[in-house]
Amino acid sequence: MSNSVLASAIERLHRIGKQANTSSQVIEALSHPHATLATNLPVRLDSGRLAYFKGYRCRYNDILGPCKGGIRFHQDVNQDEVEALAFWMTLKCAVVGLPLGGGKGGVTVNPKKLSPMELERLSRAYVRAMADFIGPDTDIPAPDVYTNARIMGWMMDEYEKITRSKAPAVITGKPISLGGSLGRESATGRGAFICTQMLVSKLGLKPSELTVAIQGFGNGGYHCAKLLQQAGFNIVAISDSQGGIYREQGLDVASIYQEKQRSKKLTAVYCNQSVCETLDFDHISNEDLITMGVDILIPAALDGVITKDNANDVKAKYIVEIANGPVESDADSLLQENNVTIVPDILANSGGVIVSYFEWLQNRQGEQWSLDKVEEKLHQKLESAFENAWDIYTDKGISLRDSVYNVALLALTEAIEAHGTTD
Ligand code: GLU
Repeated sequence: MSNSVLASAIERLHRIGKQANTSSQVIEALSHPHATLATNLPVRLDSGRLAYFKGYRCRYNDILGPCKGGIRFHQDVNQDEVEALAFWMTLKCAVVGLPLGGGKGGVTVNPKKLSPMELERLSRAYVRAMADFIGPDTDIPAPDVYTNARIMGWMMDEYEKITRSKAPAVITGKPISLGGSLGRESATGRGAFICTQMLVSKLGLKPSELTVAIQGFGNGGYHCAKLLQQAGFNIVAISDSQGGIYREQGLDVASIYQEKQRSKKLTAVYCNQSVCETLDFDHISNEDLITMGVDILIPAALDGVITKDNANDVKAKYIVEIANGPVESDADSLLQENNVTIVPDILANSGGVIVSYFEWLQNRQGEQWSLDKVEEKLHQKLESAFENAWDIYTDKGISLRDSVYNVALLALTEAIEAHGTTD
């Protein structure tokens, strides 16, 4: 099997598409990114030295609407991964019925090593390079791993300077004061929480009897953990990029988060202390967390953490994928043989892009929706997508991942065929 994330994602598409009788022309149309802009971004460091960072933006497919997807700042970003992430965005928007296509961007950088000023210059350089490639009607970025509302604000500002216009709808996940939506910050975690609750209620399980391990304590992982705990689930393990902590009786999510924030160094943007550095619990590694004896495992960090090499060691019966692509495609069959039920990324983490869509709508209509309205509409969208997939899951007896892909493929097939051509 190749090391390409995109090739592995497309392999899964072919397997599921064939089994679902998706036309080979549709599968072919979804197998290739439409366009990717790759560039070297010059950034003046505080020392006066000019440094170059690789930046990418992929518009994977726009059959359902303008491309949509986040921008990731991470040292492992490369074109292959950006294209795979943009492919998943295409399916994600389709599964929850958004009139949006799939896109994604990234910069190969360790943002923890940049000062706030350097980070701002990098964010603005990215938009200067991409200004002709993005736009409110063509491709709308948003936050992703190690990017946040502040960065989206700088990026919108740079775009508006270049185009000499007001264009809040060019980017989502902005600060509220610059046209961001209420509820966007917590949307990814809330969406995953709603999916977990629906799964648990379909299966007739009781939250108070279920233990949960969460890998990743960023935006998605934290909000999901908090909501699960409020609903009575027992969160026994949490980790971040440095490692994790475990407590059999349960961890208090709010106080761990507070501690992590409190220890943030004020001079840098991403210098939070790790959960495992600051607190007095049993320490575990990120690998231990994946194979821990819990009921629900929530990978909420990076892709490729469950592979064919560790899939048979996973003890959780349920996996809710907040990260994009945490389970490699050749681990799917092993997990299925072991009766592990997976709520796949393209549904489980779709809360973020759903509320991004609401933000884009509000910007275009000059409105500001209440938090209640945002959360209610998020709930509706996720519930109906989950129900659609669940019907296929129970009717066809295929995995939940395959069922969710079926829903997305049906929507994409209709649009591709209605378009009249696959080229
Ligand atoms: N980066 C998020 C994702 O992977 C959100 C994308 C968006 O809001 O456009 O789904």
